[in-house]
Amino acid sequence: MSKKVSQQKIEKILNRLGKHYSEAKIALNFKGPFQLLVATILSAQCTDVRVNMTTPALFKKYGTAEKMAEAPIQDLEGLVRSTGFYKNKAKNIKGAAQMIVSQYGGEVPKTMDELLALPGVARKTANVVLQNAWDIRVGVVVDTHVGRLSRRLGLTKETDPKKVEQDLMKIVPQKDWTNIAFWLIDHGRAICDARKPKCNDCFLSDVCPASGSFDARGKWVGMK
Ligand code: SF4
Repeated sequence: MSKKVSQQKIEKILNRLGKHYSEAKIALNFKGPFQLLVATILSAQCTDVRVNMTTPALFKKYGTAEKMAEAPIQDLEGLVRSTGFYKNKAKNIKGAAQMIVSQYGGEVPKTMDELLALPGVARKTANVVLQNAWDIRVGVVVDTHVGRLSRRLGLTKETDPKKVEQDLMKIVPQKDWTNIAFWLIDHGRAICDARKPKCNDCFLSDVCPASGSFDARGKWVGMK
């Protein structure tokens, strides 16, 4: 779908995104690494707004790993029901809490490998926690928006999130590994919509290989 962009263009893209979305930050509400981990697990297939409506009651009752590890599963299911896939999510947050208590003394571990061993945690969740709890950058958060924008902008040709992440890590400076996800998500919401990208209004149109490659209904019609 897209041609590869040069390093010079990548720098322009990053600079402009950084200027336009300088206030970009995590949208989930949390206090401390454990609550961040739980909120991120709950955000799978769910909006951040919905998660933020759900977590106050959840954290009021079970705001620490110790408390959540002991929580009755039916109670957890009821509290996270509105985030969807609630049975799995309740099982995962309780399982993660139990493992954090039994193996890490109640503290969320700070390495990618340890986080990946927790129930319900894949690279995206682990990266969110490492970056936003401790500013540890060992990867890039890749969700559907980051994947779509990265392909349109020519930063990758991959569709597998792990491969997209590897491509981004090769071409984006490590200092931007946290922000690029926030920037691309915000740009996807504001301008580069999945169905109707507004290329005519886009401040990246001169450096985006996919610019103008969509018809009036937003359907991909091929590179110009
Ligand atoms: S030019 Fe079009 S396809 Fe490229 S980033 Fe902007 S809106 Fe998206």
